[in-house]
Parts: sequence; C-alpha cells; structure tokens
Amino acid sequence: MIKPDLNLLKRLHMARTNKLEPWLLHELSQMGMSTNQDKEGNITGIKGNGNGAPLLVAHMDTFKNSPPDSVHFCNNWMIALDATGRQTYLGADDRAGVYAVLAIADVIPNVMVLFCVDEEIGCIGSSCFDVDSIPAPGIMLSFDRRGKSDAIDHTNGVQVCSKAFKHDVLPVLKRFHYAFETGSCTDIGELKINGIKASALNLSIGYYREHSTGESLNLGHFTRAMNLGLALCEWSKGKSYPHKVKRPKRYGGKEYGKTWYGYDYKRESYSIVNKAVAKDPFYYTKGSGKTSTALDEVYDECDRCGRIRQLFLRSDEFLCSDCMNRADLESLQPVQEND
Ligand SMILES: [Zn+2]
Ligand SMILES: [Zn+2]
Repeated sequence: MIKPDLNLLKRLHMARTNKLEPWLLHELSQMGMSTNQDKEGNITGIKGNGNGAPLLVAHMDTFKNSPPDSVHFCNNWMIALDATGRQTYLGADDRAGVYAVLAIADVIPNVMVLFCVDEEIGCIGSSCFDVDSIPAPGIMLSFDRRGKSDAIDHTNGVQVCSKAFKHDVLPVLKRFHYAFETGSCTDIGELKINGIKASALNLSIGYYREHSTGESLNLGHFTRAMNLGLALCEWSKGKSYPHKVKRPKRYGGKEYGKTWYGYDYKRESYSIVNKAVAKDPFYYTKGSGKTSTALDEVYDECDRCGRIRQLFLRSDEFLCSDCMNRADLESLQPVQEND
C-alpha cells in the first residue's frame, strides 16, 4: 500500500514548473531510471527494459503555472492560500498526478513514466511527443481527473482502450469503487492519437474544483487513486491489449448546458476558441508551430461581461478570469451592517 509523504506532496505543489523539471530528472535517475527530456520539454524515465511495461503519465504544468504562497492540510484535505490568506489555486491538477506517478514507479521494477509540458494550454507536450522514442508500453495510465471514481476510457474525441481491456480491467476498478466515464481532453488522448498502441485510462486522482481558487485535494481519495494505479500496474503484467485509434475529424460537445469547445483536426482549428482568439490574442499560444490554445476549458460568453472567453466554473456562474477576480474582490468588501 502506498501512503503519501505529505512533506514531498507539499514540496511538489510549491515548486515552479521550471524548477520541477530538473528536480524530476534528478529524482528519476536516483530511482534507477534512464531519463530523457525532448525538445518540447517532456520528460521520460525508463526502469527495467521498458518493453510491455506500464506507462504512467502526468503533466508538469498547472493552470496558473505559479505556485501558491502556502499549502495547508486540514481534515484530510489539502488547500492553498495566497499571501493575503485567501484560498487560491492549489495546482493539484496535476501535481497530485506527478506525485502518484513517482510513488507508483518507485515500487515497481519495470515501468516507464512520462511527464508532459503544457497540458493546460491544449495538450501541447503530448501532441508533440514522439511515441517511438520509448519502447511499446503494456498499458498507459494517467492521473489527471477530478474526483474519486472515474476511469476515463474516452477522451479527446477517441476511445482510448479496447473492449477486451475494459472487460478484463473492470473487476480491479470495482474493487476501488471506480467506474468508466467519458472525459473531455487530456494527454493520453493525444498520445493515443499519436500512435501509442496500449490501452489506456485516465484516473481520478482526488482533486476537486480544479482551475479555480477553490481547488482542493482530498487525501483519502488521492491515496486510493495511487493504490488503484499500483494495482492496475500489477494486474497488467504479461497482458497486452493493443488498440488503435483514428485521428478524429473533430471533437467537442456540450457541457454543463453550455457550448463547449470544438476541435477540427482537418482545419487545425477550434470553433468557439477561434472566436475567442480573434477577440483576445492573450489566449493564443504557439507550440512547435502548431496552432493551439486552452482545450481543457469551457469557452463561452462570460455571464458578466458577455465576451467570449475561457470560463471558470464557479457554482452556477460562468465567469472569465477578469470577472472572477472582480467577484473575489467584491466578496472582500466589508458588509455594511444596518442597525
Ligand atoms: Zn490536468
Ligand atoms: Zn487542468
């Protein structure tokens, strides 16, 4: 059974992404892995011969890409505060995943790890990753899903595992109270589209309300997720569930009753996002010459300012970052008391 080392967990959440990279490279070689960092910045580690081994995936960047001022544990939860003592972005998406990958890889002899860059701005690292630079994995697991019970078998518009895999893996998932779910967008989807043959799942890792100042990590759910990951690695020994996907023409959909992004692979464009980019070049980023922008988010008109922007889900409001910050400030205004 894996139990989290809370000090290390804290340190991972307090680390800047550019400091995390050299630290991870060092840590992986301490664990007896051969390591590599590709030109995009993605880090791989291989322990044993790698062939047929589980490939464990997490992303190194966080939504804000700047760590909180402090991290605290209370009642089995981990939260973050800013310098003024207000709750803020924790970055458990996906530093909890980074921790899980390290913790699991530490206890199994034949394993591969992949830490991706820039997932939050459109799976840039994974979409550029050369899948032939590592041996063919047996299964692929990522730890980049909110909650405590989701095993994502469909994401980025594609099924990421075979039917036979789903059939055989179900009893293991059930033991940990996990069930199959459909996700929106994460690295394993891009890795499958890039040609990884192994069946894959993205697992809930115990964070909640990611991409918001209310983000938190439930340590119980986090611990269970790591042990599910370990159980799946052990279960997968000697098994192989090859599964090929076709690059989808486009994907997208509706979420929370609001229009969600749509990505068109043929045109290499995002439907709603393109409108946002036209209005707001801030959201336009370039990775390896590929046009990209935030994928993991909801794009729509902000409930307050009406601009088409990346929205943050907060209770039943759909606000952009500007309006959300303003809402935060308003909530700080002293309440006038009537006497
Ligand atoms: Zn994530
Ligand atoms: Zn995210």
